[in-house]
Amino acid sequence: MTDTSRLFFALWPDDETRLKLACLSRSLAANGYRPVSMQNLHVTLVFLGQVDAATEILIKHSATGISAQPFVLTFDRLSYWPKPKVLCLASTHTPDKLAMLVAALADVATGYGLQIDARPYQPHITLVRPAKNLPDIDCDPLLWRAESFCLMESCSGPDGVSYKVRQQWPFIDKHLQLFT
Ligand code: ATP
Ligand code: MG
Repeated sequence: MTDTSRLFFALWPDDETRLKLACLSRSLAANGYRPVSMQNLHVTLVFLGQVDAATEILIKHSATGISAQPFVLTFDRLSYWPKPKVLCLASTHTPDKLAMLVAALADVATGYGLQIDARPYQPHITLVRPAKNLPDIDCDPLLWRAESFCLMESCSGPDGVSYKVRQQWPFIDKHLQLFT
């Protein structure tokens, strides 16, 4: 049987962003919600599904060729998505640099024959799942400074799902490049 892993591309939070999200998770917990594990908070870019080892190598190689630049994402609204029963932090505006990165990663995935989500991309951080409704809590906009993207593995274990960074690619800041 071919060895496969469940993979997805994501933005992975730095410590500062994770701490801010922890604060929000705590207020959700205080309101009776069960937040997802702090260690699992992320922004999915493109979900790949089960990928065999040979295809993973090719995907990593192609991802290395993507030239993306840093951007700031503003997560400005708490949203409830009734169909997947998800409470998430969503971003009203998708920065062009993010849209270009997602399109490039989607091209990589489909180029290797993987089927990807056909729905329009909506950046979000899942905070509670399953959730029943939208809580009545105040939530300041959260600024997420994206300086890299990652290939993640989703691992299912007895305590639920956990994610591992398989590879991380830093973005190239064109302004800094001018001085090097
Ligand atoms: P679980 O499915 O066990 O509850 P999970 O959803 O956190 O856990 P995965 O299903 O491996 O873990 O998903 C990893 C990430 O990819 C999550 O952000 C999830 O929302 C997203 N994802 C999963 N399946 C799809 C899909 N078919 N299309 C788009 N995104 C997906
Ligand atoms: Mg899932």
